[in-house]
Amino acid sequence: MPDTQEAFSNEIAIGPSHRYDDRLTIRPGIVSFMNGSKIAIIGAGGVGATIAYAALLNGIAREIALYDIDADKVHAEVLDLNHGLRFTPTARVVGSDHLDICVDADVVVITAGAKQRPGETRLDLAGRNTDIFRELVPALAERAPRAVLLIVTNPVDVLTYVALQLSGFPPSRVIGSGTVLDTSRLHFVLAERCGVAVSNVHATIAGEHGDSEFALWSSAAIGNVPLDRWVTPAGTHLTGDELDDIAERVKHAAYDIIRGKGATTYAIGLAVTNIVGAILNDEHRIMPVSTLQEGEHGISDVCLSMPVVVGAGGVVRSMEVPLTGEEQRRLTASADTIRQTIRSVGF
Ligand code: NAD
Repeated sequence: MPDTQEAFSNEIAIGPSHRYDDRLTIRPGIVSFMNGSKIAIIGAGGVGATIAYAALLNGIAREIALYDIDADKVHAEVLDLNHGLRFTPTARVVGSDHLDICVDADVVVITAGAKQRPGETRLDLAGRNTDIFRELVPALAERAPRAVLLIVTNPVDVLTYVALQLSGFPPSRVIGSGTVLDTSRLHFVLAERCGVAVSNVHATIAGEHGDSEFALWSSAAIGNVPLDRWVTPAGTHLTGDELDDIAERVKHAAYDIIRGKGATTYAIGLAVTNIVGAILNDEHRIMPVSTLQEGEHGISDVCLSMPVVVGAGGVVRSMEVPLTGEEQRRLTASADTIRQTIRSVGF
């Protein structure tokens, strides 16, 4: 019987040009899953590690690979996750501070990046994270040439566009988590106000994942009932002021959480896992991920969120979403805001 270390070494199925530091690669003592799907998560910080945890619990991939420049951090996260494998669907969790750990991933989720410093503008943050992407994205594209790139690092719409340019991948395979999280926050608030389950709320936050985002109220519904005709438990209809207030609460939700616990982790972890699941299982699920706009609603050359169909290979198709004049105006304004930042970071 070989000792555990030898058994781990025998399992490596990566060619000599793709060697990575074995010392940092923790594997469960189970035989190969080389035919299953593989998620690579770039950045093992609060968001990256939570995505790995949620992906593990949901059993959406056979292999989860974490990469971070901080070797001790990624080693610790992978060890901790591996210690829970006894209680999750079967999977393999590996990690390294070498990018070769991402070889042949089906989905590469990028969460790596600098956080906003006190007093730092969002533009400064965009510049710093663009510099990180200039190194990371071409190296990832080389190692996982067939992957869907899923960008989470902020500002997510700007960095989705940057990743698209740097990867050379088709637009369908470079998407941002966009307003999937904001939309989920909206569903929670509306479900509470309307007295129904979260899954009965149909409404979308569109545009930028940020200050210029807005709700597509004209197509919102509770079950089969248009939102403006829904009677709340208090026996009233939601007024325009109440809807504005709900949209503002959703927009500022992240600030409230960051004030209390320093970062948002659980909901973004679940949101990203949901998107990855839609891709790996070819679910054709409608989601407001951030994608390159190519003339839809008169908008082009920018990445932002509108509902699209997500399945194998990323975006399966875009959709015609009916917009009011005001919604169209806000979408165009949101696109202009994002495009301005894209230009200012040199893309
Ligand atoms: P964090 O600081 O906890 O983690 C970031 C990790 O990135 C760190 O472990 C760091 O070592 C690593 N890193 C930095 N540069 C790297 C590089 N060049 N290569 C590899 N790893 C590198 O931050 P976090 O809370 O996990 O947030 C990560 C990002 O996700 C931030 O940009 C945050 O704003 C964003 N975020 C986005 C959403 C969304 O909805 N899109 C939601 C929450 C957080």
